[in-house]
Amino acid sequence: MSSRIRDPKEIKKQMEKEMVPVEEMSQCLATSIYETSKTNPFLGSVLQCLTISYSHQLPTAGILFNTDAKRWDMLVNPYFFCKKLSAKERKAVLIHELSHITHKHPLRVPFMKISARKRMLMNIAADMAINQYIPDIPKGCNQCPPIGQPTPCPNELCPGRCIDVKDYFDQDPKTGTKTQWPLNQTMEAYYDRLIKRFDDPDKDDKGDGNSGGGTETGDLPQTIDEHMWDGAGEEKEMLDATEELVKRAMVKARLSYDDLPGHVKDLLEEIKTRRNELNYKALILLAMKKHANGHNRKGTWTRKNKRLGFKAPGTKVGDLPKLELHLDTSGSISTEELNEFLEIVDQFLKVGARKCNLAFFHTEHYGRQQYKMGTKIDKSMIQSGGTDLTKTLEDIFKRKGDLSIIITDGCYGDVPVESWMRPGQQFPQVLWIISKGGTEDHPLKRLGDTVKCPDGSTSKRR
Ligand SMILES: [Zn+2]
Ligand SMILES: [Zn+2]
Repeated sequence: MSSRIRDPKEIKKQMEKEMVPVEEMSQCLATSIYETSKTNPFLGSVLQCLTISYSHQLPTAGILFNTDAKRWDMLVNPYFFCKKLSAKERKAVLIHELSHITHKHPLRVPFMKISARKRMLMNIAADMAINQYIPDIPKGCNQCPPIGQPTPCPNELCPGRCIDVKDYFDQDPKTGTKTQWPLNQTMEAYYDRLIKRFDDPDKDDKGDGNSGGGTETGDLPQTIDEHMWDGAGEEKEMLDATEELVKRAMVKARLSYDDLPGHVKDLLEEIKTRRNELNYKALILLAMKKHANGHNRKGTWTRKNKRLGFKAPGTKVGDLPKLELHLDTSGSISTEELNEFLEIVDQFLKVGARKCNLAFFHTEHYGRQQYKMGTKIDKSMIQSGGTDLTKTLEDIFKRKGDLSIIITDGCYGDVPVESWMRPGQQFPQVLWIISKGGTEDHPLKRLGDTVKCPDGSTSKRR
């Protein structure tokens, strides 16, 4: 199986065999951190800020997200670290673990629901992506079985052999010419290659094509460490913990932002971008909830629940808030982005069955239909053209839904809605969602809250 995490019985069994004197353990760790600081001040400082514990829970090493303390922790097997590795290899293993964090591997893997075999291939891909940058990574011993044969090495003191992309070739079936796999690729790119190379042995037997593959991983090469990242924590918590770790390390090493290695600067930027994307979804949901709950002209929605003593939503369908969605199809917003927005709407609708309608606009207002959860927009559904909000706002004014959400790029002229209303009359509640690259400073801001979708850059991944 892919995981080598030990159960309590196994830990007890191994503990005596793997005993290392306490002084030796602390000396090995202190020396490797010091050596790392000499060549790489920033990573050395990160190591000093990290909680590193010796443990028999795992045979080698691993980094994990501590969900209680909301921080990254490192576990190291004392026998592996002190007895099997050379001084240089110790430093390399520590850098290997840190590299998983700085390359954001734990943030990308746990959210994918894949079979054990595919997960193992993803683990190999993760190591392949980082090991090429780490000098002195363990290369095994002279008793190690040849590359391509994953049988464990018979040598008790063998450190193990790290996954090295330089050992992987594609061979032309006709000419026999070998081409080495490229360097500097992402975990995902290596995964695509590995999936083709290590085809699923069970696939033909099952034959249904969507079984997710077999669970046997015995024919695969092993990673040097454990990747214990399965559903480890909330993505936002992991982003926060990573940023916190980098910032504490900066302070400790008295480094300014400009002193940071380039890929760490990229990491901080990516964290910011990703967090904005997550915040944007949360902001829209919050705005929708706020407006939906503000609908209290009729009794049942906010009537005090006698038994529970708080405001409970009404149960009569007619009293549930009516949501009207209006999507700008003038051409500046991609169908992909419109669909992303509908996914957020679905999250909101899941909370309770609410009436929801969907319509499109450019200069016309068209295609109004009852919205069903899971609806996807495709090009055939939409027309394009310039943008004029008059017809859309007329529709909103006429229907008086409880909340009308308009997703648009914000580029259009003003509409004199006040001239349609009697003195003191209110325009129905509107929530504006401005698309990527759109303008937040639009002429109809006065009609409701505006939420801007962050202009996310595509993250650089390794
Ligand atoms: Zn690893
Ligand atoms: Zn060996």
